[in-house]
Amino acid sequence: MPAERSLPDAARVVVIGGGVGGASVAFHLAELGRTDVVLVDRSELTSGSTFHSAGLVGQLRADPTLTRMNMYSVELYRRLQQGDTPPGWVESGGIRLASSPERMEEIRRQVGWATAFGLDLQEISAAEAHDLFPLMDPAGVVGAAYLPSDGYLDPSQLCYSLANGARAKGVHVHPHTRVVGIDTDRGRVTRVRTDRGDILCEVVVNCGGMFAAEIARLVDVRVPLVPMSHQYVVTEPLLPPGSAPLPTLRDPDLLVYWRQEVDGLVMGGYERDPAPWTADLRRYDAIPADFNGRLLPEDWDRFEEITANSQVRVPAMADVGLRKVINGPEAFTPDNEFVLGETEVDGFFVAAGFCAHGIAGAGGIGKVMAEWIVSGDPGLDLWHMDARRFGRQYSSPSYTLKRTIETYETYYDIVYPGHEREAGRPLRTAPAYEWHRQHGASFGEKGGWERVNHYEVNATAGDEAERPIGWAGRLWSPGVGVEHRATRETAALFDESSFAKLLVSGPDAADLLQWVCDNDVARGVGDVTYTQALNQRGGIESDVTVTRLEADAFLVVTGTAFGSHDLSWLRRQARRRSAVVRVEDVTSSLVTYALWGPHARRVLREVTGADLSNDAQSFMTARDISVDDVPVRALRVTFAGELGWELYAPSEYGVRLWTAVWEAGQEHGLVAGGYRAIESLRLEKGYRVWSTDITPETDPWSAGLGFCVRLDKPGGFEGADALRAMKEQGPPAQRLRCLTLDEPRAVALGGEPVRVDGEVLGRVTSGGYGYTVRRSIAFGYLPAEASRPGTRIEVNVFGDWVPGEVTTQPLVDPKGERVHADG
Ligand SMILES: Cc1cc2nc3c(=O)[nH]c(=O)nc-3n(C[C@H](O)[C@H](O)[C@H](O)COP(=O)(O)OP(=O)(O)OC[C@H]3O[C@@H](n4cnc5c(N)ncnc54)[C@H](O)[C@@H]3O)c2cc1C
Repeated sequence: MPAERSLPDAARVVVIGGGVGGASVAFHLAELGRTDVVLVDRSELTSGSTFHSAGLVGQLRADPTLTRMNMYSVELYRRLQQGDTPPGWVESGGIRLASSPERMEEIRRQVGWATAFGLDLQEISAAEAHDLFPLMDPAGVVGAAYLPSDGYLDPSQLCYSLANGARAKGVHVHPHTRVVGIDTDRGRVTRVRTDRGDILCEVVVNCGGMFAAEIARLVDVRVPLVPMSHQYVVTEPLLPPGSAPLPTLRDPDLLVYWRQEVDGLVMGGYERDPAPWTADLRRYDAIPADFNGRLLPEDWDRFEEITANSQVRVPAMADVGLRKVINGPEAFTPDNEFVLGETEVDGFFVAAGFCAHGIAGAGGIGKVMAEWIVSGDPGLDLWHMDARRFGRQYSSPSYTLKRTIETYETYYDIVYPGHEREAGRPLRTAPAYEWHRQHGASFGEKGGWERVNHYEVNATAGDEAERPIGWAGRLWSPGVGVEHRATRETAALFDESSFAKLLVSGPDAADLLQWVCDNDVARGVGDVTYTQALNQRGGIESDVTVTRLEADAFLVVTGTAFGSHDLSWLRRQARRRSAVVRVEDVTSSLVTYALWGPHARRVLREVTGADLSNDAQSFMTARDISVDDVPVRALRVTFAGELGWELYAPSEYGVRLWTAVWEAGQEHGLVAGGYRAIESLRLEKGYRVWSTDITPETDPWSAGLGFCVRLDKPGGFEGADALRAMKEQGPPAQRLRCLTLDEPRAVALGGEPVRVDGEVLGRVTSGGYGYTVRRSIAFGYLPAEASRPGTRIEVNVFGDWVPGEVTTQPLVDPKGERVHADG
């Protein structure tokens, strides 16, 4: 594409990077009527990772949102194929083989999910897979999934098709224009500097692929990704000329994928010993300034396993000659998810880190990014891909590298529920970590923190008969039930120090939080309020408790993994409102221990002289007390539905506080518990979890959180208009419901379709086993007419439709008497 002669000196939006990502963002901005857009690339379009892509477009992913985005990509590619610059879209269908019984279970689970998304994924036999792809040897194949609408295309043509579409609508496209600087003013982008001149702008979209990290450094933003080399081969012809296109084929157990290329095959895979390119333990990356339109040297040693495996499934691979070998770098992220959205610098967006599925994703990526830029939010729950999800630990090149290598080498692995990643651990350990370790803790990791999942020592007293059927039972421990029951029957102590804690202070702190939260949070000093923060559409952006510490200081407590997201949400709102506040992450400065259970008061009385009666401190209030010489802020809150406190103390007191409470509890049946028990306890109480049960796509009315909404709050709040409009339209069309399954050991994990009278009407948002009610519990949104308690439902758990019903919630203590208990 020839360079346009002169570079505009101003534009609303500058898109950096002319690969499929940037071209798609520009295309979709133009579709939304935003044509005051300049797309620049330092070299030719498609000269980064895009030109050497294998071009497979598979839609189904573990994440429902990403699947929907990929489904949109296919719709778009079909449409573009009818246009002037077709991308070479071949709707060949796609097969995913199961070469092991476990993989077959995964496939059945995926077929179930797909039903919930309206994706026509079909379970087929090995023989049927063979009929569709006759070159494959079906030996050892247990079964397969077939998706008729999957396919492949020419990635460079896709890029040109999108760029031409954008240009036809008025977007300026400037190849050979290298961005060398980005200016900001008061936290907002103002100008892009290039080697061909400067462009004043309001929005910059970093679509730099593997170069996105270095581009982001121009504004001091960290985008953690690593260029990894990825390799595939193209064979000589081995199909009769002109034969109908073969479906794409993936055999994840053998780590290999194929697609047809003219009369030959493309074959690639994800090796177990991946090779990062240009990044090492000390450097993020150092991609040569002239690395465009180039490939890496062939690396046969690394490809040996993939080559051998490919011959197992497609024996013809052993004899056919190779036409070319492509070894190219691609941006991988530490968690194998894209990096999308606005960063902490206002107006600076990222869409990069596509982890070898950028061709499949490009259509959807462009669409959500354009909507995000134009209307301020993407319209979908993109938390898993949100640029703000990474904690500060990812500023370390070595941590980023270790985590990224792990995601690459396990790319095709089945992720069982309860699976924990290992790379880079342990990193963040709370003061009582050693105590937990010595007392048999089984740790999980979240946000870099080591967190207790359960204590293996508790397992001996557990009930093996409660082990869930199938996958959900694999990494399960009977100890979880013991910890759960102790919380309901005596007392349990949980280390929740990893909870993200944000301190909002300053003269405008109260006003800001009143604006951001749907509940009335600026109540008396010491009051604790459960609230949501909403976006303009009324979608739930975060779910937190807010404690008023002083007239102008508030503690906002949110989930371990949501700290950076909520921090940037609050800071952005503060900037928009020119609020005089300070928003700080104080997570590391405070330990948090939850002491819950009917004996909680007795335990705490052993170590404090403070009056612990309801009169002295009622539910949802905070108080400063001393616990065994430790200054503690005690919050009367619960996520388990039991009497108790969350005890906050400066970190240096952490060990003393934990051991003091632990020892005091010994004569009262106190048990140390972990996050798995909390999960089961909260399901029974119907407490929602942000990112699964409630998301930016769901609103408080349908989520059953209307009790938090104060529409009449003076001054209003973000999202209030949208909530009011919804209310005027009548009761919500969808409701979040608690479902119980008739088979207690069939446990839904999230994503499973829910059907009523044979029709799929919803999907599970989260699920698990309730050890008190001894039932399998699941949450899911259902249409209002199908959500009445008593309605019979079925949930597809690993291919079986398990019957159950909609129940009234919560399942335990519906009147909330336990949390208010006195005595
Ligand atoms: C071998 C291989 C096989 C693959 N196979 C598949 C597949 O089958 N299916 C699939 O879905 N995905 C596949 N992928 C992944 C896919 O190709 C990528 O995800 C996608 O092409 C990335 O697009 P992008 O726009 O993010 O990045 P890129 O295509 O790398 O574009 C980034 C652009 O930014 C430009 N740029 C960088 N710095 C600057 C600057 N300072 N100023 C201006 N411009 C700049 C670069 O020149 C470059 O053109 C594969 C990748 C590889 C390597």
